[in-house]
Amino acid sequence: MKTHDCDLLVIGSGAGGMAAAVTAKHAGLDVLVVEKEAVYGGTTARSGGWLWIPANPLAAREGFSDSKEAGRTYLQHEAGNHFDGKRVDAFLENGPAMVDFFEQNTAVKFVLGPQFSDYHPDAPGAMTGGRSICAEPYDGNELGEHIKTLRPPLKEITFLGMMIGSGKELLHFFNVTRSIVSAGYVAKLFVKYLRDLTLHGRAMRLTNGNALAGRLAKSAFDLGIPLWLNAPATELLRDGDRVIGAIVQTEDGPVQVNARKGVVLATGGFPHDVERRRQLYPHAPTGQEHWSPTPPGNTGDGIRLARPLGGNTADEYPNAAAWVPVSRVPWKDGGFGTFPHFIDRAKPGVIAVTRAGTRFVNEGNCYHDFCQALVKATKGMNGEICAWLITDHPTLRRYGLGHVKPFPVPIAHQLANGYLKRGRTLEELARECDIDPAAFVGQVAEYNRHAAKGEDPQFHKGSTAYNRYLGDPTVTPNPCLAPIATGPFYAVQVVIGDLGSFAGLKTDENARVLGENGQPVEGLYAAGNDMASIMGGNYPGGGITLGPAMTFGYIAARHAAGIAA
Ligand SMILES: Cc1cc2nc3c(=O)[nH]c(=O)nc-3n(C[C@H](O)[C@H](O)[C@H](O)COP(=O)(O)OP(=O)(O)OC[C@H]3O[C@@H](n4cnc5c(N)ncnc54)[C@H](O)[C@@H]3O)c2cc1C
Repeated sequence: MKTHDCDLLVIGSGAGGMAAAVTAKHAGLDVLVVEKEAVYGGTTARSGGWLWIPANPLAAREGFSDSKEAGRTYLQHEAGNHFDGKRVDAFLENGPAMVDFFEQNTAVKFVLGPQFSDYHPDAPGAMTGGRSICAEPYDGNELGEHIKTLRPPLKEITFLGMMIGSGKELLHFFNVTRSIVSAGYVAKLFVKYLRDLTLHGRAMRLTNGNALAGRLAKSAFDLGIPLWLNAPATELLRDGDRVIGAIVQTEDGPVQVNARKGVVLATGGFPHDVERRRQLYPHAPTGQEHWSPTPPGNTGDGIRLARPLGGNTADEYPNAAAWVPVSRVPWKDGGFGTFPHFIDRAKPGVIAVTRAGTRFVNEGNCYHDFCQALVKATKGMNGEICAWLITDHPTLRRYGLGHVKPFPVPIAHQLANGYLKRGRTLEELARECDIDPAAFVGQVAEYNRHAAKGEDPQFHKGSTAYNRYLGDPTVTPNPCLAPIATGPFYAVQVVIGDLGSFAGLKTDENARVLGENGQPVEGLYAAGNDMASIMGGNYPGGGITLGPAMTFGYIAARHAAGIAA
């Protein structure tokens, strides 16, 4: 068998793996990254590209008063019984340093989300802005030939393949028919996109997670780190209790990779491991009743590789993954895409109901909380665990709904393919969706009675800073509430998906995998979703997977390089 020698072997090319690789190489280690798929970037390249880092340097520069102590208080509240003080402290201590390191030494740059509220802003230690930072948009030309193997963004959240940045950029898209400035902004981006399509066959202005993955990869390539594609790691090599490398399958046959300082598992968790889903996802009794927008190669390989060394997973977490409601978008070839519903639920004039015709949650709450409420509300109901997002004609054309875009983008094909349901009356819509008509009509009437006054005594939509952040600030008195009154009426069905798994390998504060008797396995690290989330199964804020992924990648690399934390 062929062999390859290095100091650190990184398995997986998402945020966790690439952060570890770049940090290690910068610290003087000889690094190899291996990636199972033909493209690099993993879920990270499909993501929003937000990192949640309390007391981060960008917020400090903008004068936000945040602290590690406040971050700790918040995480203690959020993780409850699953709070792991040592790992949380390592995250809070190293997160800001990691951001500084990347901004100063690499192609990775960030922008601050000044009004991006924590998801439970009324909890102790929470902030209503300043903890979430996003990868700055990036010019794909910087990647040269490597742009061809960067995983593309999730098709469903692009506009005809064009990436739309969150925050201000997205607002311009919503206001395209209302503001000449927005129309000009969008037109300019669209012209550039058409030029890129002609010249490169893809969007070259990378935003969000695609910008993050592109920037991380560029940083790795600049340092001369080799990245093997189509190269799954299939077995770890040990010398006694120490991990000393791995067998990696390549197009030229298996290679024995010897890694003097160790191996970082960063294979992106188990969102496509059907057996683990069956065991751990309450809404998926066979493991199949789940729709994940994560890439198909994330099948829990990191966990499987660590099992023979005693690697244990945090199966006790109340939620084994980061849930998100998704709608299934029919494609022309008969397949389906998954659209994650991050922001439409909070808009004024949108509610969610179950088959029973009634609401079950504050729709503006975060995706993870929405899904938990849905599972509870549908317990005992026959059939698929699902809800419908409901709206009326003016609201649909103002904000869109899921994959349906606002005016002037036509909606006829989404009505024809069944993605969007329509009824001239509420009763008709209920029948279309197999929702209890009488309960539904009563529910909408009850909602409307209060919505006009900006009130929601049932679920208090619009009551938190996070709800309002995603609402429409031009709507008063409550940016998340407006009556559903002017037909025709519309619905999009949502089911449960995930953004990545939480119940990963148990590790210590140095990102070392814990083996038999809870002792760290020498030479074996985990980062990203291969590592048990430090959030204990909860979802405290925008970027709580990528923030820790990059931070623990950074920590793992420094530990392997012998740099004290
Ligand atoms: C639409 C969407 C939006 C999101 N937005 C955000 C956000 O804004 N902020 C946030 O914090 N989180 C977000 N998430 C979640 C976040 O993207 C993931 O949690 C994160 O990217 C996981 O990073 P990772 O490094 O663990 O894995 P990944 O980025 O998935 O990378 C893992 C890589 O390992 C490879 N691999 C698997 N097995 C092997 C093997 N045996 N050998 C070699 N390679 C292997 C995979 O192919 C993959 O490329 C979002 C997710 C989605 C789907």
